[in-house]
Amino acid sequence: MKREVAAGILAGVFFFAFLSGLNPLPVLLFSLLAYFLYETGGLRVIRRQLGGGDGQIISNVTFQQIGGQAAAKKELMEALEFMKAGSKAEALGIRPLKGILLVGPPGTGKTLLAKAAATYTDAVFLTAAGSEFIEMYAGVGAQRVRSLFQRARDAARREGRTNAIIFIDEIDVLGGRRGQYQGHMEYDQTLNQLLTEMDGIKTTDGIRILVVGATNREDMLDPALLRPGRFDRVVRVDLPDQEGRLQILQLHTANKPLAPDVDLKQIARETFGFSGAHLESLANEAAILALREDKKQIEQRHFLEAIDKVSLGEKLDRRPQKEELKRVAVHEVGHAVISETLRPGSVAAVTITSRGQALGYMRQVPEDDYYLYTEDQLRGQLRISLGGMAAEEVLLGTRSTGAQGDLEQAINTAKRMVGAGMSHLGIVSLSDLPEIELQAAVREILNEEKAEARRIIAEKKELIADLACELMEKERLEGDELRARLRGGEAVGMAARRETTGVLAS
Ligand code: ATP
Repeated sequence: MKREVAAGILAGVFFFAFLSGLNPLPVLLFSLLAYFLYETGGLRVIRRQLGGGDGQIISNVTFQQIGGQAAAKKELMEALEFMKAGSKAEALGIRPLKGILLVGPPGTGKTLLAKAAATYTDAVFLTAAGSEFIEMYAGVGAQRVRSLFQRARDAARREGRTNAIIFIDEIDVLGGRRGQYQGHMEYDQTLNQLLTEMDGIKTTDGIRILVVGATNREDMLDPALLRPGRFDRVVRVDLPDQEGRLQILQLHTANKPLAPDVDLKQIARETFGFSGAHLESLANEAAILALREDKKQIEQRHFLEAIDKVSLGEKLDRRPQKEELKRVAVHEVGHAVISETLRPGSVAAVTITSRGQALGYMRQVPEDDYYLYTEDQLRGQLRISLGGMAAEEVLLGTRSTGAQGDLEQAINTAKRMVGAGMSHLGIVSLSDLPEIELQAAVREILNEEKAEARRIIAEKKELIADLACELMEKERLEGDELRARLRGGEAVGMAARRETTGVLAS
């Protein structure tokens, strides 16, 4: 019906223009364009482009569903108390908290924390990514920022709530230092708009808005964003420690059937450096492996394999030649034996399965939560890194390019040692040290540790050969199997097996 009325009015206007001697063509074209945009929903698309999408999410995440991060949760909850206290805080004249910045590596649960904050304060939750505000066209970013704050107020009013949380992920993209993009004032305008909106946040209109920003590059942010009255609180969201990893694993396996042999504590111990997102993926991969084998329950070995998959990538079909495989086995067992000699119980697994860039690998149970390393520890790391190459030399008589990655790692460690005054040069400034002297000091450290690695390998030559044969057969040795063999000496029939695989041949 509306359409008929609109068509009638339009025909009238058109006829009137014609009688008055005006050219009716522009009116006709404009009307057609408006009709086309209306019919195709184009107007909505344009509005969404300017406004940057709705972004409202219904959040029902609670702080209990976030594993670890005890310090971050506590700090965040304290900061949110003022939102919960509402009128009491106002009566005391407390300035509303306008922004909280969550800083930490990817996948550590920053988005989850922001969602839990919304549930905790009964706030509407709107989310946007910093990159959504960066456009080619001047003014669009600033308009999106304005619109985001407006939508937060509207959504809160619509739902009869007094709190709104706006979560801006990758805030460094939008809040980078002003003036760094020459000839591109768009970034600066967008950031200025965010600062203006944050300055304008007040509780007098009955709705409290809190901006939660997330970044892993705090150093990139414009200092104006961090000054009091804007992002007042900075909450660090670090990689979880062992206890945190255990809690996250418990959360992500709660809905999965676990076999009685599953020991999540062991998994937590072996996943040093994993983020919450890695652990979620690990639990999922373990379930997929169980499904592939048509098992009803997930077993410990599925979890152990999933650790390798998450850290190194999918197993590759690439199958090296037998000779190559022998070299890889000797190399990896070399690393493992030195690791066990220096730190008993440190090997988690050793395998010759190709994954990602690696033809094989030895995974250690990391020493948890070390922030400082002593000279002994660093020298130990060097011996382990060089152990693979030393084993190739001692058992097979030659080196290979397989040690390249180990060497790079070892050179970096040795440079670190020189910088920390642990070389014959004593205390030096790395930046003032001539390259040639640095090289000489690095070489000296590496030669010392390689000689030590060779000594250990030569002492256990037969055992390493046996273990390499066993590894070639089984493809993977768990840390416990390896330790049993290191304690117990030769397995039955080993001498014959050595003969056929020829590991000690050269
Ligand atoms: P990014 O910086 O990459 O945006 P983020 O820090 O915001 O990452 P989230 O998006 O919160 O990380 O986490 C990704 C996923 O990882 C979550 O959906 C969840 O499954 C899992 N996760 C991360 N941290 C935790 C944790 N502490 N407890 C439980 N699960 C977690």
